[in-house]
Amino acid sequence: MVIYTKINFSTRGTKKTVNRKLLKFLSYYQPYLGLFTADLVCAFIAAGISLSFPLIIRYITKDLLSAGIDPSVLATIWKLALLMLFLTAVEYCCNYFITSYGHMMGAKMEYDLRNELFNHLQKLSFNYYDNQKTGQIMSRITNDLFEITELYHHGPEDLLISLTKLIGSFIILFGINAYLSLVVFSFIPLMVCFAYYYNRKMRRAFRKNREKIAAINAGTEDSISGVRVVKSFANEELEIEKFRENNLRYVDSKQDSYRYMGRYHSGIHAFSSLIYLVLVVAAAILADGGRINSLDLLTFLLYINVFLEPIRKLINFGEQFQNGLSGFDRFYEVISIDPDIIDSKGALELTQVKGNIEFNDVSFRYNPNTAEVLSHINLKIKAGEYVALVGTSGVGKTTLCSLIPRFYQISAGIIKLDGRDIRKIKLKSLRRNIGIVQQDVYLFAGSVLENIGYGKPDASEEAIIAAAKKANAHDFIMGLPDGYATDIGQRGVKLSGGQKQRLSIARVFLKNPPVLIFDEATSSLDNESEKVIQDSLEQLAQGRTTIVIAHRLSTIRNAGRIIVLTDDGIAEEGDHQSLLSKGGIYSQLYKMQFE
Ligand code: ADP
Ligand code: MG
Repeated sequence: MVIYTKINFSTRGTKKTVNRKLLKFLSYYQPYLGLFTADLVCAFIAAGISLSFPLIIRYITKDLLSAGIDPSVLATIWKLALLMLFLTAVEYCCNYFITSYGHMMGAKMEYDLRNELFNHLQKLSFNYYDNQKTGQIMSRITNDLFEITELYHHGPEDLLISLTKLIGSFIILFGINAYLSLVVFSFIPLMVCFAYYYNRKMRRAFRKNREKIAAINAGTEDSISGVRVVKSFANEELEIEKFRENNLRYVDSKQDSYRYMGRYHSGIHAFSSLIYLVLVVAAAILADGGRINSLDLLTFLLYINVFLEPIRKLINFGEQFQNGLSGFDRFYEVISIDPDIIDSKGALELTQVKGNIEFNDVSFRYNPNTAEVLSHINLKIKAGEYVALVGTSGVGKTTLCSLIPRFYQISAGIIKLDGRDIRKIKLKSLRRNIGIVQQDVYLFAGSVLENIGYGKPDASEEAIIAAAKKANAHDFIMGLPDGYATDIGQRGVKLSGGQKQRLSIARVFLKNPPVLIFDEATSSLDNESEKVIQDSLEQLAQGRTTIVIAHRLSTIRNAGRIIVLTDDGIAEEGDHQSLLSKGGIYSQLYKMQFE
């Protein structure tokens, strides 16, 4: 039996996984093969035109130098000038295509990647999210993907352009003057070493910058979302100090990166100037032996720019490749996690759920290497029963309830709904039949109507209002500035705790599930709101199987059955009176609250 689907982060390593990853990487080109080919063809043509210009100029100059200006020479020059004009126009079109359509292709690929990642994230279970930071997931969805797409469209294009120009100019120059080209090209490895060295330093410094800015983001998010705590402790000074430190670290690390950037850019510039110098000196020496003429020197001078640019591009490509691949690694890491909770083969859609729940010898642990939170739990809840679950904090009440909708995979045993193993029920239909009201209410930014409607996305406005009425929420909603259209702010900050809870109850009324779980739904409310909410909850529970976890035992006195959970499992069961007279754990808990 599958106890735990391990999250497989070891995507590096075996040849097979590397191949699979490479195939996956390349597969994103597939929908855009036409565009991609056109992009490469344009890149090749543009590189070819850049290579041809110095040659044409050489030709014109030769004519000018040798023959003087006679009409036939002039006619040729005009023709060549026209050719250059035409080539310029072609080059313009190619460059336009590369820059605009190449980028668009990248953006579309990014769109595909992002959608796939988000869809996959929606499939992953609580188990994954328990171990992740929201900020990290966000950065995977935004920054990482951007770097991948930069590689996708610039990578092959830059590589092709650079290699064409570099190899092309080498061949041309070698044909014109072998000695001089050896001198010039022997200079290039030096330049590449220099650039590579500083590029690496720069890249590391930039990575540090990113880490520092991430720290600023994380700190800011924490302190802004915790602004109420900050102010209640009057700890603004502390927060300012923390922020200032992070900010200072960022500016320090930026200074480092600018130092390297300075060396890199001025170094590359100096190298370019040095190449001119070396060229002229070498030419002078060669000219002495009659092995070079001024026309060759001119051609060489013209070509310097043609091959300096690809060298810079190739160096950049190295960086882009690294960044893109590590971005893809992080993407692949998430994509290749198999969702641990999925529909099993032959899973059924449930149509008419009565609400019989059964735990057969169920054990559960959160992680393979931690202790069991629940072990050998046996429990039967009949359809329509109202059961209370009590026990000290941390004993596993919430955990037990979260196993019923399969938020986590149990380690051993079976949980049944209406006699059917819940793993053999389609996840969607299982969860559609269970309603949960928790202590922490999560509301989405948006209107009241949208938030209640979340319980059943195709519900009509009348149905939503009816649900709100049942949840005792209608009156307060009508008192809001825009009624049901009122914007409730991020996470519903513009509402009181009781109001938020009433919206969440309305949401469940709308969903209308046969099984209900109330997990300390009234624990954080004041007495007055608690009463109102308690009323709505009892209304909601009518005719449904209900499991109530209650902090205040006074609220569950009427429960048909009370189950007392301890670290050793279910210790006592019975109604309020019988448990009290038994004088066991429940009666102790009860006395603690009322004495
Ligand atoms: P209760 O609801 O009874 O207060 P819980 O079911 O929330 O208790 O927690 C039971 C135990 O499981 C606690 O020891 C808690 O630390 C642990 N626990 C709860 N949630 C997680 C989680 N997502 N990952 C790991 N451990 C958890
Ligand atoms: Mg709990």
